[in-house]
Amino acid sequence: MNIVIFGPPGAGKGTQSNLIVKKFRLHQLSTGELLRNEIKNKTNLGKKISSIINIGNLVSDEIVGNLIEKYISNEDYKNRLIFDGYPRNLNQAKNLNHLLKKYNQKIDIVLKLSVSLETIKKRISERKYLEKRTDDNEDIAIRRYENYENNIKPIVDFYKQSELLKEVNGETSITKISDEISGIINGIKGWL
Ligand code: AMP
Repeated sequence: MNIVIFGPPGAGKGTQSNLIVKKFRLHQLSTGELLRNEIKNKTNLGKKISSIINIGNLVSDEIVGNLIEKYISNEDYKNRLIFDGYPRNLNQAKNLNHLLKKYNQKIDIVLKLSVSLETIKKRISERKYLEKRTDDNEDIAIRRYENYENNIKPIVDFYKQSELLKEVNGETSITKISDEISGIINGIKGWL
């Protein structure tokens, strides 16, 4: 069982990924986290990518592809990966298929957590009230949401064609969303 998960910032993707990881004993592969670790550990790669990441640009497909191959090729994680933050474009989506095939694996489910911009704004304002954040955060969050929606479209269309895409309503409660996702995973036969 390999899963790809998508969701705009604020959709609860992190929370849901953690729940799936625990429940189904999967390994979460967050490319953002892998890249941040390289920077934190001051590796050669880290030094090369820090300025790119700091200004919010994407790291090259080749660099991220090499990083994820280390996990895909690792027997410990075979058919146990949940991809978070990858693919980010069509080229990466095709590369992911290619890499999985190379190591005799495939994607079983692509989960898309859907949440409206209105709900994201509401969640931010509630959080802001609790944490006394400034208004800037809402503008940034809106821009990130819009960027996400634009970037994700061709990838979503790509997965729709292969009928892997499952859209989950991210507007309900954490438990309801988690139950729906578990139902989808349990519906995939022959892997547990
Ligand atoms: P994230 O934590 O997923 O928001 O990622 C943080 C940053 O890491 C992004 O802004 C990009 O600079 C970089 N990054 C993460 N995943 C990818 C990817 N699949 N391709 C290229 N760059 C990525």
